Amino acid sequence: MRIAIIGGGITGLTTALALKKFNIEASVFESFSDLRIEGAGVWMQPNALKVFDFLAIKEDIISNGTSLTKVELLNGKTLIPFQNTNSNLVENGNLPIVAMHRGRLLETLYSKLNPEKVHFNKRLESLSEHNNNISLKFEDGSEEKFDLVLGADGIHSAVRKSVFDDTSLRYSGQTCWRGIADFNMPNNFLATGNETWLNNKRFGFSNINAKQVYWFAVEKAEENETDETHLVKEKVSMKFSEFHPLINQIINATERNSIFRNDISDLKRLKTWSKGNVCLLGDAGHATTPNMGQGACQGIEDAYFIAHYLKESESAAEAFTKFEQKRRKKVDSIVNQSWQFGQMAHSTLGRTISIALMKILPASIMQKQLEKVYELEAI
Ligand SMILES: Cc1cc2nc3c(=O)[nH]c(=O)nc-3n(C[C@H](O)[C@H](O)[C@H](O)COP(=O)(O)OP(=O)(O)OC[C@H]3O[C@@H](n4cnc5c(N)ncnc54)[C@H](O)[C@@H]3O)c2cc1C
Repeated sequence: MRIAIIGGGITGLTTALALKKFNIEASVFESFSDLRIEGAGVWMQPNALKVFDFLAIKEDIISNGTSLTKVELLNGKTLIPFQNTNSNLVENGNLPIVAMHRGRLLETLYSKLNPEKVHFNKRLESLSEHNNNISLKFEDGSEEKFDLVLGADGIHSAVRKSVFDDTSLRYSGQTCWRGIADFNMPNNFLATGNETWLNNKRFGFSNINAKQVYWFAVEKAEENETDETHLVKEKVSMKFSEFHPLINQIINATERNSIFRNDISDLKRLKTWSKGNVCLLGDAGHATTPNMGQGACQGIEDAYFIAHYLKESESAAEAFTKFEQKRRKKVDSIVNQSWQFGQMAHSTLGRTISIALMKILPASIMQKQLEKVYELEAI
């Protein structure tokens, strides 16, 4: 069976690797001219690490990032945790959260694939299906035919737009700057993921290796606002000037052209992720807001399950049905929780209530919630 994966991001490359594990070759088509190694950091949580373990690359991932033993919510002014307890919130079967550069993650995945099967400079324009044959039309004028197509081309998916009519995004009202700073982290933050809150703003940071810190800064904003590159660092620094001085030191240690801005949106729930012999994976099918740090982790889970079901099923339809039955509940729950977390964190009342709850709720309740997220269900 000829399988095409559209998109060579985290979901697409992990899917190719998971299929390879079962000796199923797939061709990946990526619009960029090379691996997209620019960009920010990413937190790979234990559910993703379980998939990487299955793919026998867990140790590569761990050695290319920083292992975090807990994620804490801190007061932005004092950097003191809101939680009263000192418990380890992310501990899960001894699996850490790995904070790493996105580029290092993509390089690690790509290095395990047959490079001849990953085609760069191939932007999909549209696809059409006739008699179980799918024609892919690329922007460079070329056309290819496949039996089955997996759309892993992100939140603005061309595959999704070719197959489904109603695919709108939902803007959260928040915008996010991300950067990577050359910075020596103080010892007490070396192995923690940190998210700080002050007034209506959030600033998160963690080490991604011995010399670099990944950070994100979130505030409410109108959609589609832009920055002048030569002023962006000063702008973010000013916006977060009332935070603890460490935060401004981190921002100031960042190259201005390595600061990225994205409006935070998710994808309106699709009724189904597949049609005919085409199935959507990762952000293409269920982009979530980043508040739980689970978007890419969910794409990685998709890769694991779709590969299993394609291997064991008689037909694509059977595989896609099993895939959706397995994945829907968890994905929907994460998209909804993440949305609510973002709305609550940027409302005065919501923040006050959550901080009060964090102070009184036993750590075991938080732990239980996380265990559900970190679980990789049985096939
Ligand atoms: C601020 C922020 C912080 C985040 N932090 C985390 C985190 O800590 N942990 C986490 O798990 N998730 C995080 N996420 C979510 C995560 O970034 C996404 O869920 C993840 O990148 C989705 O991966 P993907 O491969 O499905 O899509 P993408 O990363 O969007 O990759 C899609 C790929 O397809 C290619 N492509 C697009 N269109 C076409 C086309 N027409 N033809 C061919 N190729 C195409 C693109 O070039 C790209 O390489 C965060 C998101 C944001 C915005």
